[in-house]
Amino acid sequence: SGARVRRAKNKRLPQYLERGVDVKFSDVAGLGKIREELEEIVKFFTHGDMYRRRGVRIPGGILLCGPPGVGKTLLAKAVAGEAGVNFFSISASQFVEIYVGVGASRVRALYQEARENAPSVVFIDELDAVGRERGLIKGSGGQERDATLNQLLVCLDGFEGRGEVITIASTNRPDILDPALVRPGRFDRKIYIPKPGLIGRIEILQVHARKKPMAPDVDYMAVASMTDGMVGAELANIIEVAAINMMRDGRTEITTDDLLQAAQMEERGMLDRKDRSPEMWKQVAINEAAMAVVAVNFPDLRNIEFVTIAPRAGRELGYVRFKMDHVKFKEGMLSRQSLLDHITVQLAPRAADELWYGEDQLSTIWAETADNARSAARTLVLGGLSEKHYGLNDFWVADRLNDIDSEALRIVNMCYERAKEILELNKKLMEVVVDALVEKKSLTKQEFLNLVELHGFVQPMPPSI
Ligand code: ADP
Repeated sequence: SGARVRRAKNKRLPQYLERGVDVKFSDVAGLGKIREELEEIVKFFTHGDMYRRRGVRIPGGILLCGPPGVGKTLLAKAVAGEAGVNFFSISASQFVEIYVGVGASRVRALYQEARENAPSVVFIDELDAVGRERGLIKGSGGQERDATLNQLLVCLDGFEGRGEVITIASTNRPDILDPALVRPGRFDRKIYIPKPGLIGRIEILQVHARKKPMAPDVDYMAVASMTDGMVGAELANIIEVAAINMMRDGRTEITTDDLLQAAQMEERGMLDRKDRSPEMWKQVAINEAAMAVVAVNFPDLRNIEFVTIAPRAGRELGYVRFKMDHVKFKEGMLSRQSLLDHITVQLAPRAADELWYGEDQLSTIWAETADNARSAARTLVLGGLSEKHYGLNDFWVADRLNDIDSEALRIVNMCYERAKEILELNKKLMEVVVDALVEKKSLTKQEFLNLVELHGFVQPMPPSI
């Protein structure tokens, strides 16, 4: 059923009605379990009588909480679209006016329209703009806002339990809302919409790809992998930019490469919004470049997918994405050699910190990778892959545990020296990679390999291990 737009009973054209909203749940990807909660809201409209007969109170307001761009607006539209009801929307920042009374009268008008055209969804974007705890803002601006908020409370109460007008509001700051707003009967239901994970990102990309001429072999996994921390709005934009890329080259299909390039541009856009000091950029670049450069020494690790110093959610520094043999990694079937190589690469940031900044200026920038190295070394020893063999029984023998740790330490030290040696032999390459990273923030596999080709890679003497 399409959106059913009822004719307004009075002649005045509704000002806040969005016409032609035809969004369905299938247009919103990566929702997982949240979808069930939203389907229930649709039922409040489609099966309202059933709820009322059984004395179940229909919530007056639903709060969609989450960072910008995760699809809160899109979801509110999808609820209206699925229920086949009218969609009224306003951004709360439009409520906040300098003149006392203007905001309040807009709220009244909005709800009057919604009621006259019921059933309807009223969507209030950025509720926190008006819904902050009262009395926090002083002066006449504060008074005006309080008046608006009071009006909103009155309107919300007017619909309690009727289920003909349901208000959906979005906010990134549910914590600062006025307590009166979240009282029972008002916004008493909160739904959190987090940033999408890897699978969510794949699904979002695919939803937006539906309407575009994609090459049949597009690798959505690769694009999703390098867009860690991005939200739906950014992913949708990547598809658009990729389409423009394709058009510009006079091609007829969007390729993985178009998408990866677009993703990089999106990432750079994000970067511009963060600020780090030039020294900080450089230090992170040295850290990441070291891993990429040391990895060149090892056939299995050489093929990095990209290296970046872009800050990301939950990952303050940059990172190098290795092209891993996922099956082997997941099944834990790692050979002795691949573990040693891995340990060496993970120790590269620590080695670089020592070489570039000196023993007495070490930072903790390499703490995480050093930790990876340590646990890999223990895995190696416990797996019976070091020179000394320890059996399973050693898990339970206390004095053997010390042996295991000292053997792991020996391996870590050996790999550390190796990482340092590789970096010292390739100082020139390190410098150009660091410079390129500082300038461009991210290097693709090809860009990185070009630098390696151009400046050469010096291999160390074969290992004595
Ligand atoms: P918010 O209201 O959370 O700031 P929006 O709903 O305005 O985010 O999202 C902006 C656009 O980003 C949407 O119109 C849609 O194109 C895209 N988008 C965001 N999240 C999703 C998602 N989960 N699935 C599909 N597209 C999405």
